[in-house]
Amino acid sequence: MVNEIRKDYLLERYSIIATNRLKRPKDFRPVKTKEKKIKCPFCPGNEDMTPPTIFKINGKRGWDIRVIENKFPALSKKANYKKKLDGFTNCFTGVGHHEVVVESPSHSKRLDQFSVKKIKQIIDVYQQRFVVLSKDKNVRFVAIFRNHGKAAGNSLSHPHSQIIATPFVPELIAREMNASSKYRRRNRKCIFCDIVKKERKSKRFVYENKSFLAMCPFASIVPYETWIITKRHVKNIAGLKEQEKTDLADALRAVLVKMNKQITNIPYNYYIHQAPLDSKNNYHMHLEILPVLTVWAGFEKCTGAYINPVSPEIAAKELRSA
Ligand SMILES: [Zn+2]
Ligand SMILES: [Zn+2]
Ligand SMILES: [Zn+2]
Repeated sequence: MVNEIRKDYLLERYSIIATNRLKRPKDFRPVKTKEKKIKCPFCPGNEDMTPPTIFKINGKRGWDIRVIENKFPALSKKANYKKKLDGFTNCFTGVGHHEVVVESPSHSKRLDQFSVKKIKQIIDVYQQRFVVLSKDKNVRFVAIFRNHGKAAGNSLSHPHSQIIATPFVPELIAREMNASSKYRRRNRKCIFCDIVKKERKSKRFVYENKSFLAMCPFASIVPYETWIITKRHVKNIAGLKEQEKTDLADALRAVLVKMNKQITNIPYNYYIHQAPLDSKNNYHMHLEILPVLTVWAGFEKCTGAYINPVSPEIAAKELRSA
């Protein structure tokens, strides 16, 4: 059988759906990582090992969620913004924010093992930090993301997410925003609203509730890639209402539970794509989950195109039935 080359809904990004390799979930071995026994800086009682608390939600026994500055911040909130543009070696000061959301006092729980109520609390914190950080005049984009598992670049297993607020609009965000504007000009519709409408009834459907749809995108770049999209047209997380935050927690939990049923302790990255707070761009927020089961090697790095051994139709079917 000849493989199919698929183009992303928006981007000029291609994925070769290499079903001739016939990868099945069982071909991907569960990832067992032995954790080194270290004193965990995110565990209750070790707060003095981390930078001071920026924000917290109190629980029955101390804090339930703690937001701190990253110990080695990629961008610094204290710096003065200066730029040096000579048209060749352009650079500017690394201002911005780099925060860690310690999601729970419990060290060894996975996110899919939390209740919907608990995940909603984490989403509340994402929203709160997004609004606060967006008000910084140097900030142009707020990246909210989570790495789970060593393969996904996570060095500390204690449940946590990260937030990096940048003084520039990152390339991928700009590309997605521009492509969705172009689609809107051409079709007088939002591409993400169209994706929701069409993919709900497709073979790539995974899960839905009142406010969110979960589906495997047509040109998935990795096995089991899943997007969770708001059904209502919402630009960014600041626009989510209470019930929508609960529904996002429900959808996120449902998808992660399904993924873990396929592959125990599946490593993944998830992140929110959304418009900056002050942006005039009518982007549509969505959360992308990318399991880390394959290695991006020479071809991917050479071309920015991908080889994905599991078709999104097979991935969705397996996730639906999990
Ligand atoms: Zn811990
Ligand atoms: Zn939309
Ligand atoms: Zn996106």
